[in-house]
Amino acid sequence: MTNGMANKSVVLQDVRKSYGNLKVVHGIDLTIEEGEFVVFVGPSGCGKSTLLRMIAGLEDVTDGEVEIKGRMVTDLDPSERGIAMVFQSYALYPHMSVRDNLAFGLRMARTDATEIETRVKAASAILKIDHLLDRRPGQLSGGQRQRVAIGRAIVRKPDVFLFDEPLSNLDAELRVSMRIEIARLHRELGNTMIYVTHDQTEAMTLADKIVVLRDGRVEQAGTPRQIYEDPANTFVAGFIGSPR
Ligand code: ADP
Ligand code: MG
Repeated sequence: MTNGMANKSVVLQDVRKSYGNLKVVHGIDLTIEEGEFVVFVGPSGCGKSTLLRMIAGLEDVTDGEVEIKGRMVTDLDPSERGIAMVFQSYALYPHMSVRDNLAFGLRMARTDATEIETRVKAASAILKIDHLLDRRPGQLSGGQRQRVAIGRAIVRKPDVFLFDEPLSNLDAELRVSMRIEIARLHRELGNTMIYVTHDQTEAMTLADKIVVLRDGRVEQAGTPRQIYEDPANTFVAGFIGSPR
């Protein structure tokens, strides 16, 4: 960062999505700075996952452009976008060890074996799963599985991490500790992170910037403090202020 200007990490220009006649994302403009932790929050069905999947390249945009690190990526495959996504369902391979789950994507990308080992070691140390490398997913707790899923994103050294409700399958206590872990990861790695949740507490505690979505539109974007103290309308006030 020179002259006080942050670099742009992800830029959405009038991004739209329709499934047939059903419009689910209505034209979203958004600029995310490098290193920012941005949370998309909103009720179920408001388009959070669809928006995240369009940034990832897992869904085509119906209209608009997606830019990552100054590159137009709208027509690129997920593997070409410099992103890694962590899913709610973990999506681990049950028949593979944790080590192989972590290494799999890198092997597919023909990364050098020594480099794979180095990255798997580094990611396991950061996530404190070194002692679990020879286990299979079925022998892990929910929290441990979620760490492996995050590890699989880390080893790819993405520019941008995308999380889709990564903690919603965990019990309340574990959700709190994993939330703290994810905040620590963001401090240690410094990457841009985009995090989808319908949980107001997660949004308020993790975000540098919160984007409140409703019916495929941005109702308000701002710091947690701005959103909390100066909600744009009654929907935002009700959503952020409502009890969990
Ligand atoms: P959220 O993640 O906020 O719960 P989604 O992005 O999953 O919301 O969905 C937004 C809207 O798009 C919903 O109305 C959902 O039913 C619809 N939708 C999502 N995926 C598809 C699909 N593949 N085909 C048709 N409609 C879909
Ligand atoms: Mg969703």
